[in-house]
Amino acid sequence: MRVAIAGYGKSGRSAEKILKCRGVDNIEIYDDYLLNTKKIGEIGSHEFDCVVLSPGIDYRKYPICTKNIISEIDLAYSLVNDPDKIIAITGSNGKSTTTYVLAQIINKLGKKAVDCGNIGKTFADMALENYYDYYIVELSSFQIELLKLFKANRLIVTNISTNHLDRYPTYNEYIEAKLSIVNRINKNGYIVSIEDPILKKYILPYKGKITFIGNKFNSFPELLNNTLNFGNKFYCHIDKFPLFGMHNIYNLTYALLIADDIFDLTGDVSYLIEDLKGLKHRSELIANVNGIKFINDSKSTTIASTEALLSSLGRKCVLILGGKDKGDDFSKLKSAVNSYVQTLIVYGQASEKINKQLGQLLNIPVYICENLKEATIKAYEHASPSNLVIFSPACSSYDAFKNFEERGEYFKTIVRALVDGNN
Ligand code: ADP
Repeated sequence: MRVAIAGYGKSGRSAEKILKCRGVDNIEIYDDYLLNTKKIGEIGSHEFDCVVLSPGIDYRKYPICTKNIISEIDLAYSLVNDPDKIIAITGSNGKSTTTYVLAQIINKLGKKAVDCGNIGKTFADMALENYYDYYIVELSSFQIELLKLFKANRLIVTNISTNHLDRYPTYNEYIEAKLSIVNRINKNGYIVSIEDPILKKYILPYKGKITFIGNKFNSFPELLNNTLNFGNKFYCHIDKFPLFGMHNIYNLTYALLIADDIFDLTGDVSYLIEDLKGLKHRSELIANVNGIKFINDSKSTTIASTEALLSSLGRKCVLILGGKDKGDDFSKLKSAVNSYVQTLIVYGQASEKINKQLGQLLNIPVYICENLKEATIKAYEHASPSNLVIFSPACSSYDAFKNFEERGEYFKTIVRALVDGNN
């Protein structure tokens, strides 16, 4: 058997391990960024029995026969081969946090669960370990559109909003790609999502059990007197939940509903949530400088995720937006910014566009800065004690950084310097 691996990043390398385990040794690597390998455009896909394609590569741009394409996720699935052990998680925002929270909860309930897929550790590496009872697999739209074998008994779709318009020609094509995951959930399974007309259109035809939760971040019907309830079931006291913001209570609820479906939870499960950990760079409280709290939300690369964070604040903040434009319309932020922002700072490649589409619609001070350092210092100068400074850029990091992690770490370094300067 002759196999090409197109894109030799994390998923390509993991896929190679599975192929080798299965006795495939005729493997050729194609990668545009590695020395001594052929370029992806040179794949003559008919020469191969299959092509393992990295989700980072848009197959539409290459002459690769789609019939031959296989993905790392499907290879991993073929090892696990038990949909009951798999919980798929997708959505536009909140996938990683929900994945991470659910894995922690299942582990606390005494089963071995691992977060994997788009979140970091590959599904293939985890499947090869052959150790876990549950695989919580975060899937991006790019991973979903390559699936041919994958099945799961449980699915969470956190939400849907415009994203990746740099790769999909229309929002509709992005939705179709993402929601095709519904067809991969077994009929005796369970889907949890949010009340949203688009999501309902795609999820309601599903024949198994479905739960839609809430519909607005500021009116969460399941939240009564600081307790989280669902239907007539009481779950826990929410004041014990350590993650910041209402959007994270949604993420928690998704996770608890799935855990309940598996374990049939009874009584007060506050013990499951009180020491849960969040992920770095997502609504992360990083410092308190003279009463001014700094929140690092570098992972926010979309307008919807920044909007979600703003709507969960309940008070005004100084907001830093900017980075590389992903093609969305920043005027969509107008209402959230008007409600929750007292000063707006924009920086980076997208700054002119943000100012034109959003800044000029507002009646608050807007400052345009060259770079993130200047923007952070400016935000600090304009914050008063007990203010929040929120870095939730709503843009990708690629104008100046390798990824959102590097950008978030850089933001933390600048904030640390402000703290040191004040000691
Ligand atoms: P993803 O993996 O989908 O990118 P993350 O969990 O990494 O999602 O969170 C990314 C950003 O999305 C967070 O920094 C936060 O601003 C926002 N976010 C998190 N959860 C939600 C949610 N349930 N709804 C909307 N936005 C959210």
